[in-house]
Amino acid sequence: MKIAVLALQGAFIEHEQRLQQLGAETFEVRQLADWLQPMDGLVLPRGESTVQMRLLDQLGLLKPVQEAILRGLPVLGTCAGMILLSSGYLGTMNIRVRRNAYGRQLGSFHTVGQVEGIGEDVPMTFIRAPYIEEILSPDCRPLAQVDGRMVAAQQGCQLATAFHPELDADLRLHQHFLQMARHNVIVG
Ligand code: GLN
Repeated sequence: MKIAVLALQGAFIEHEQRLQQLGAETFEVRQLADWLQPMDGLVLPRGESTVQMRLLDQLGLLKPVQEAILRGLPVLGTCAGMILLSSGYLGTMNIRVRRNAYGRQLGSFHTVGQVEGIGEDVPMTFIRAPYIEEILSPDCRPLAQVDGRMVAAQQGCQLATAFHPELDADLRLHQHFLQMARHNVIVG
């Protein structure tokens, strides 16, 4: 199992550590050449979504990444990564998000909650997080809510969280993602 981790900007090491703890191999995508190797899944990490979009575009990675996800490459997007997947950005996931929804500086907090398909008491660390304002198609389903706001969703092979599973010791969310990647059948 080989998982690509987008490493243009932001924080991605923790994702690699979690995936490696679960026995997966990881590699970092910093330029187009890195992208041209086989992979079973992709992680879009936290950072600044606007900067990440610009770098993806400048490096010629935007279209290849978008097309691979649309063809069924399993992807996990956390925080800025969730924004990248959303409508108006890569637009592969039918969600509309509101950025920095919990405020710029004061908005970081930790809670636990239920995530559908994963379980109870899932740790959730939010850092200047977005939330999902609207789900735009029935094949996309919300997986978790905090204070009445949608903070996780799945659409086929795409899994998005407003919080940071990579910052907590709980491995269930990454495990769920690896299961998605393992059972994925890409129809070409
Ligand atoms: N606020 C960032 C953005 O809008 C996301 C923050 C994060 O990834 N922790 O892109």
